Order: sequence, then C-alpha cells, then structure tokens
Amino acid sequence: MSISENIAVIRRQIDAAAARTGRTGADITLVGASKMNDAAACREAVAAGIDVLGENRVQEMTQKLSENAYDGVPLHFIGHLQRNKVKQVVGKAVLIQSVGSTALLDEIEKTAEKLSIVQDILLEVNIGGEEAKSGFAPDALHEAARYAKTLPHVRVLGLMTIPPVETEPHGNVPFFARMQALYVDINQNIYDNKLKYLSMGMSGDYAEAIEAGSNMVRVGTAIFGARNYSK
Ligand SMILES: *Cc1c(COP(=O)(O)O)cnc(C)c1O
Repeated sequence: MSISENIAVIRRQIDAAAARTGRTGADITLVGASKMNDAAACREAVAAGIDVLGENRVQEMTQKLSENAYDGVPLHFIGHLQRNKVKQVVGKAVLIQSVGSTALLDEIEKTAEKLSIVQDILLEVNIGGEEAKSGFAPDALHEAARYAKTLPHVRVLGLMTIPPVETEPHGNVPFFARMQALYVDINQNIYDNKLKYLSMGMSGDYAEAIEAGSNMVRVGTAIFGARNYSK
C-alpha cells in the first residue's frame, strides 16, 4: 500500500476511535513519525494530508529541512534531545514534544530567549517508570509543570508519553488511562485548562490511546512501512 492509502486507512480508524469518545477525527492530530524515511516520503505524506511531521534525530531533521521535506505542514521534534543540540531545534520545530528534564527546560529557555521567541513544548512523562527511558516521573510532573510555567520563553501545550513496549495485547491501556488522569489534573490545577495536547499512541495502539483520551497520535510504521535499520 502507498503512503496515501495507509494514511486513508489510519484516518478511518482515527475517526472510529474518536467517535467512541464523542469526538470526531478532526479533534485528533495525526503526526507522521518520519524518521529514517527520506524527503520524498515526507512530501508524499504532506500531499496525502498528514497534519504534522515529527522527527527524532537532530541531524536527520536538519538534513531534511535543507531538502524542504516538511514544506506545507508544521514540524515537531519527538525524539530524545540532548542539551548540546537544543540550538539546532529551538525555532525550527514548532513543537518540541520530548522535554523530560528540568535541565532541558533550562536549555530551551536560554536558547529561545536569545532568539526572542517563545518555544512551544510538551512535557514528556515516563509513565512506565522505565530506567532506560527519558521523561519526568509521574510524581515529579506537578513540580516540573509549575517550574516550566515560570519560564517566559517556554510555553507548555500539553503532555507526551511513550509507554513501555507491549508484552500483551492492550497492555498499554492502563498507562494511557494514567496519562489521561495526569493530563486532566495538571490542566485543571496548573494550567487553567489551557493545555491543548495529550500526545500518545503509535502504530500499534493509536486507536486505544484515542479511546483513552489522546488527541495527538504519532504514527510511523503504519504510514511509511517498516524502517530499514540496515541502511
Ligand atoms: C518512531 C516513533 C513513533 C512512531 O512509532 P511507530 O511504532 O513506527 O508508529 C512515535 N513516537 C516516537 C517518539 C517515535 O520515535
């Protein structure tokens, strides 16, 4: 199947999942996770109506920006971001979804201030408490959210998570439910209900994530096909 056929199939699934929660597909942002796919594939996704493209690696994003791979849609950064690469992402990606430490918040603040811009971000939550994964621990999130609010050049638009790799079908449903509860809580108590995005759900579980309250899904494989790691 082509990229545009894949996107059409996913849109129908998104519509159905959204309808089960009293929403419509228009309430859900579909982010194409385009890592390891070339500029031509990105352009194909744009032509097929993808809402956003999301990139994981700074070097790859910089290269593909120079090839105008993302023209026509907003670009998000969704991967692990090292502090020494923040300068290459702030002001380039309209939303940095993967901000999971106060050190990274500080670096983004500093860089955005120099550019006289406000950088939109999501706070990443390590909902599975996995040692190898970045993101704020759920019980550190309130403090992080309050801290982020004090930074004048950073604006928090919501939360993002990458749950553990599923060991059984529907294994991530409890994590999605906990994220939704955290989102509602933080939104009410810290952000006066101004948050916009709960970013969760990938190729294998985006419908379940939407049913749990996600309004932004990041889908790679189901759009672009399996990534070729040998290249
Ligand atoms: C690659 C990636 C995705 C998409 O994963 P698929 O399983 O290929 O859909 C989503 N989010 C992040 C942060 C990613 O790195």
